[in-house]
Amino acid sequence: MSVLVYINSNGEKIAKNAFEAVTYAKKIGDVTVVTNGKADDSMLSQLGKYGASKVMVDRSFEGIDEQQLTKMVATAAEKIDANTIIFSNDLIGKAVAPRLSVKMNVGLVAGASGVPEADGTIPVNVFSGKAYGYVKVNTDKKIIALLPNSIPVEETGSEAPVEEFEGNAGESRVTVKETKLPEGDIPLPEAELVVSGGRGLKGPENWGMITDLAKELGAATACSRPVSDSDWRPHHEHVGQTGVAIAPNLYIAAGISGAIQHLAGVNRSKVIVVINTDDEAPFFKAADYGVVGDAFEVLPRLTEAVKKFKA
Ligand code: FAD
Repeated sequence: MSVLVYINSNGEKIAKNAFEAVTYAKKIGDVTVVTNGKADDSMLSQLGKYGASKVMVDRSFEGIDEQQLTKMVATAAEKIDANTIIFSNDLIGKAVAPRLSVKMNVGLVAGASGVPEADGTIPVNVFSGKAYGYVKVNTDKKIIALLPNSIPVEETGSEAPVEEFEGNAGESRVTVKETKLPEGDIPLPEAELVVSGGRGLKGPENWGMITDLAKELGAATACSRPVSDSDWRPHHEHVGQTGVAIAPNLYIAAGISGAIQHLAGVNRSKVIVVINTDDEAPFFKAADYGVVGDAFEVLPRLTEAVKKFKA
């Protein structure tokens, strides 16, 4: 089975969700990756380690214009006669996969969380991760947009050959005036350690407690939705059903109640530590470790303990 995976290689490095998409595709068939831009061959060839047999790169355009990418992926799909086309269900995947589905008249499964079963049925997360739905595509070919952080990355192979190709992407109809990366060094979807705060922290002036602990641990910072809705923190830090989905090794949540919509984005964390004054907060049911206590006391003490441990 011929499987095509689109990955974004316009950043300084390839993101974790690209490795996830290639790992996922490898479980379905023979994997060709398609991408665009100026990324160097040595970076792209690393995709072979995750299962890609070949990487095709269109160097004629850079950036993430959805219309250009749709045309490029359609050209690549035709060239290799792809039976299945895989995207990560990130912002680019959400914009390009539906366009491609219309252009190619092929069924799309968005938010897939597992590989297709023997009869082609694909599991998708529904009701904020509380249940699985099972979707079957009725067209011969299919497009799958994989939920980020839903499967572990696996290294199975060695480096893959990289070849240039012409994706017939056409001219872009938009001009990107400026690109701004979010503050902080660690992108949230890829962070192994995350320290997060909720409304229990009372206001943005208290966020130093979160950033101090994050700094000591080398962690990314996150927040609940009301916190970003109130402009205490930037929107890209909001985790949950309507925010970023994360799967770190450690998630420390302070002053967050643990509403189902919040849990939907964090319940793939390996270890969850909850700090809350209310011993009946729902988050304790999902926690591996719980501290019933005031975040204003617990967080600074935790930061001091980490400092001492590192010294
Ligand atoms: P609260 O519910 O107000 O909880 C604050 C917690 O802090 C309480 O448990 C309290 O006991 C504790 N606390 C108070 N003082 C202290 C202290 N000093 N020390 C320690 N603990 C203290 N929410 C998300 O987070 N992400 C989403 O993606 C999301 N999507 C949504 C989508 C929809 C359609 C809807 C309807 C809601 C969504 N929400 C989402 C909102 C969600 O339902 C909750 O309202 C939200 O998660 C609550 O945020 P919170 O826990 O910070 O605040």
